[in-house]
Amino acid sequence: VLRIERCGLAFEPGQYICLGRAGSLALREYTVYSSPEEDHLEALIKEIPSGLVSRALRRLSPGDPVELTGPFGRFRLVESDRAGTPLFVATGTGVSPFHCFVRSYPGLDYRLLHGVRCATELYERQVFDPGRTVACVSRDPGGDYPGRVTAYLGDHPVSPETACYLCGNSDMIYETMALLRAQGVPRDRIFAEIYF
Ligand SMILES: Cc1cc2nc3c(=O)[nH]c(=O)nc-3n(C[C@H](O)[C@H](O)[C@H](O)COP(=O)(O)OP(=O)(O)OC[C@H]3O[C@@H](n4cnc5c(N)ncnc54)[C@H](O)[C@@H]3O)c2cc1C
Repeated sequence: VLRIERCGLAFEPGQYICLGRAGSLALREYTVYSSPEEDHLEALIKEIPSGLVSRALRRLSPGDPVELTGPFGRFRLVESDRAGTPLFVATGTGVSPFHCFVRSYPGLDYRLLHGVRCATELYERQVFDPGRTVACVSRDPGGDYPGRVTAYLGDHPVSPETACYLCGNSDMIYETMALLRAQGVPRDRIFAEIYF
């Protein structure tokens, strides 16, 4: 988690900022992980070994300046869904907008499927209610379900009126979208944010 000064930046839960080292022209998108109620801004960033910006951010020292623009994006929790039971489906750091939603809307009756390869990637798992969350861990035994989120959804179909919010890599999003459509969820009840 990279924590930075907020400097008065207003944003809505689910939006992202563009971040990079100060003075660098290379910026990348990162969903805001913290809630708008908090004094600082946080982003949950996976270090990509060959990655230009994620590696540079990982090497920052406390007090180093960063370049920041934003907020951007329209991946928000629709107001009427805040009173319903939305389904959140994430892979890896795609859990970030859902972390922000859960911190921002106390009492939210959500369900979260979080797909990761290893249980060590279930960062800050305690923020999510264990009764509402299924950790789908595909490569080690540390989760609630031994497989991918798509396999879990195949085994546990959703009802067609469920509002579904997907965030993470494009393969998961396209596969999940096809599954949900086959289970009768209309296209306009599926919202997605693709990371890469
Ligand atoms: C709207 C939006 C929000 C995003 N929010 C987040 C976030 O909250 N946290 C976060 O960690 N990332 C997030 N990303 C991804 C992020 O913007 C960068 O793409 C990522 O950090 C890699 O940047 P880089 O400069 O280190 O790698 P680059 O030098 O740009 O790319 C190196 C290689 O890594 C691949 N790659 C990119 N992202 C990943 C990944 N997550 N896992 C595996 N391979 C990858 C690329 O396809 C490329 O082949 C978001 C992307 C978008 C579009």
